[in-house]
Amino acid sequence: MRLLLIEDDDALADGVVRALRIAGYLVDRAADGREADTWLSEREYDLVVLDLGLPGLDGSEVLRRLRARKQGMPVIVVSAREMLDERIRLLDLGADDYLVKPVAISELEARIRVRLRRGMSSEDNRLRIGELVLDLSGRLAWIGERPLELTAREWSALEYLATRANRIVSKDLVLQALYHWDAQITPNAVEKIISRLRAKLEPAGVVIRTVRGMGYYLEQPKPAVG
Ligand code: CA
Repeated sequence: MRLLLIEDDDALADGVVRALRIAGYLVDRAADGREADTWLSEREYDLVVLDLGLPGLDGSEVLRRLRARKQGMPVIVVSAREMLDERIRLLDLGADDYLVKPVAISELEARIRVRLRRGMSSEDNRLRIGELVLDLSGRLAWIGERPLELTAREWSALEYLATRANRIVSKDLVLQALYHWDAQITPNAVEKIISRLRAKLEPAGVVIRTVRGMGYYLEQPKPAVG
């Protein structure tokens, strides 16, 4: 198992690296956000331990870029910032765990073991339909490598249809799936959302079909032959 420790404090990093090597992990250490970002885009790691306050590039930006590249390895954030908003923001960005400094090394090791056992937590929640990739836990979508911008309602409609690909769902059911976003939503609004989604999905070759009198379905593209 290869881990990347991203930590700019030399004394702290030395202690953690030593302990993790004794525990049997291969450990690389980056002292700078930019260096970490480069290594993460070039090398394979099984888990990342990430400090937030870093020179070069902030830890949260390192995390955002990592998830934007669809790298799904567990990320444990270790931060001096003990703020609920920050914790929620980091978890939303795709962190798997959040520890506040000072962290006992035994505690960090325990969290690492838990995360490695669970494996590629974010990967498990990925849905692929042709070129379209949905991260169901992060509520993010991509076409190939390109992030797809969606409104909250568009996301909900897409998630509903994509998790039922090739099955016809009535307009009423789509409307219910969107209901919590806006109590005033009308069947007409559903049609508008579907039509915007169609335009956005077109580059991915993903098609939402209308079945007259019945509803919609998202067509699962047939795998290319050859
Ligand atoms: Ca720091």
